[in-house]
Amino acid sequence: MTSEGLFRFSFAIENRHSKIENIMSRIRLLPEILASQVAAGEVIERPASVVKELVENSIDAGARKIEVSIRRGGASIMRVVDDGCGMDRDDALLSLERHATSKIRTAGDLAAISTLGFRGEALPSIASVSRFRLTTREPDAVAGTEIIVSGGRIETVRDGGEAPGTQIEVRSLFYNLPARRKFLRSENTESRNIEHQLHLQAIGHPAIAFVYVRDERVIFQLPAAPNLAERIRDLYGKELVDRLLPVEENEESAIRIQGMIGQAGVSRPTRSQQLVFVNGRAIENVVLTAALREGYHTALMKGQFPVTFLFLQLDPAAVDVNVHPAKREVRFRDPNSVREAVVNAVRRTLESGRQEWQQQFQRPVVVAGIDDPGRSSAPIRPTSEPIPGPGSTIPATTESLPSFQPQAQTSSIPVAASSAWNDQPAITAPGSQQFQIIGVLNRLYVLMENQEGLVLVDQHAAHERILFEELRRRMEEQGVPSQRLLLAQTFELGPRDAEWVERNAATLQKMGIGIEPFGQNAFKIDSLPTFLDVADPVTFVRKVIDGLKSASNGTSPMRLGEEMIAKTVCRHAVKANDPLRYLEVEKLITDLLGCELPYCCPHGRPTMIQISHAELEKKFGRKV
Ligand code: ADP
Ligand code: MG
Repeated sequence: MTSEGLFRFSFAIENRHSKIENIMSRIRLLPEILASQVAAGEVIERPASVVKELVENSIDAGARKIEVSIRRGGASIMRVVDDGCGMDRDDALLSLERHATSKIRTAGDLAAISTLGFRGEALPSIASVSRFRLTTREPDAVAGTEIIVSGGRIETVRDGGEAPGTQIEVRSLFYNLPARRKFLRSENTESRNIEHQLHLQAIGHPAIAFVYVRDERVIFQLPAAPNLAERIRDLYGKELVDRLLPVEENEESAIRIQGMIGQAGVSRPTRSQQLVFVNGRAIENVVLTAALREGYHTALMKGQFPVTFLFLQLDPAAVDVNVHPAKREVRFRDPNSVREAVVNAVRRTLESGRQEWQQQFQRPVVVAGIDDPGRSSAPIRPTSEPIPGPGSTIPATTESLPSFQPQAQTSSIPVAASSAWNDQPAITAPGSQQFQIIGVLNRLYVLMENQEGLVLVDQHAAHERILFEELRRRMEEQGVPSQRLLLAQTFELGPRDAEWVERNAATLQKMGIGIEPFGQNAFKIDSLPTFLDVADPVTFVRKVIDGLKSASNGTSPMRLGEEMIAKTVCRHAVKANDPLRYLEVEKLITDLLGCELPYCCPHGRPTMIQISHAELEKKFGRKV
């Protein structure tokens, strides 16, 4: 049967084309199908793009449940089924025409888009490069519609459509464009891309139930979730949720930022869990990526990426979503304010995480199962009292303090060693943090007991963090201590660099770099930070200047100073295997707990690991 819509679709446009082609001999309008295929080149890069467009349409259609199934990386078939509003026959036909959309009508609408789609390009594009089948039914309609399209040509339109909603099947993607089909990656890679795409949609819309089936296997089945945390738990597991912090909101900012982000020290080797949504749309954006990095700063290991589920809400007029055919990127009207809002949100959140975490050390130690009130409230022995550790070597300078390196020598000693340490008083640090040091394992890990269970502290990482924060504080206050060079060195810079150095001399001074003009475009360095150990001061300073310059539109110079410190602090920290005496260990721990970001070293590695009583009980089979 030929409906009106179909008629319009195929004949009206071809008539128009032939008239115009008669007049103009060299320039011609592309036939409709070819135009769609060209558009598909941009919108449909790969199978995952099809899934993205179809799922977004389902979301826009108000679906409560979306089922996606694919086979062979999507190259053989992709099917998306939703229970959304469906379409009547005219709309179903119209949806396959280019630039047909129900989502915007005027240019004004384009400035304030609230739907995921708006370009009216996806369906005709997909249909022009695949074998396409759409069935759809409105909830109260007696019958639905089925439309079959092959390579952009409508082949069948008939009654059909089972349950209310829409079902779209895309087979043999790019079958009519062999060059594109050859570009498909391995099934695994394409499947992974599809899965990532679905993760984005599922995280972006916790209230919608999602099912994903790959090659007949159910990969995930997510019930509608009441909130983001539940959705993250269903998708990634409880362990991850436990290591996330809810974003601290800033009520005053025009940019609302919500969601959850990983605690310091939680990171991934790829960006696969760095999810950012702007007005409900998952996007990639360099401003945001840089802002996250800056917000985390020393809480992130080099080459690692943060875990974020971040939702930015801003005035639709302040962001242009129409800059990328697949709507993957956006452009901000004021990127600086967005950057600042994100950096601050991340910092505030990491800070709050620290307070919560520190509370674990503030409750008195009560050992479960041992009814011994004397233990938790044990009178605090003066810590300078000698506690003989087995095998201890006491250097002459330290008088009565036991050295702390017994366990490396024989394996029978640890029991005695730890009981000796167990007699140590619980430490009451500033803010009444309370914990008990048990001993040191392998001259590297400090073992402690707190309310939650066992804590392991990496003494080297802990010392790095303490040194780092100390130097940073000095840099911010009076400046990093610097040391005169034996021989002042002079060097020249290009005119632009020279001008930059003159403008930023004060910052460089604070960083402990003594630099001053020495004639036209020439400079003299006569001091460097004390903690530095560089062979060639000129090369070092040139590097710092390059780093500062490339980052100065955005990153604050202080952040770069921090980086410089973080890089060098490692050399001065207590090394693994440096034996520490009890008092030193104690001071290390109290200093660490006083840090702003105690739980990771300046390179983002964890300083502490907590093993809870529950975990221990599980390991020993006391509890299942
Ligand atoms: P856009 O989403 O940009 O509007 P599309 O080509 O993706 O363009 O879809 C065209 C139109 O088809 C949509 O505006 C919508 O009205 C309709 N449509 C597409 N998919 C669905 C669906 N799953 N349920 C209901 N309507 C749909
Ligand atoms: Mg769409």
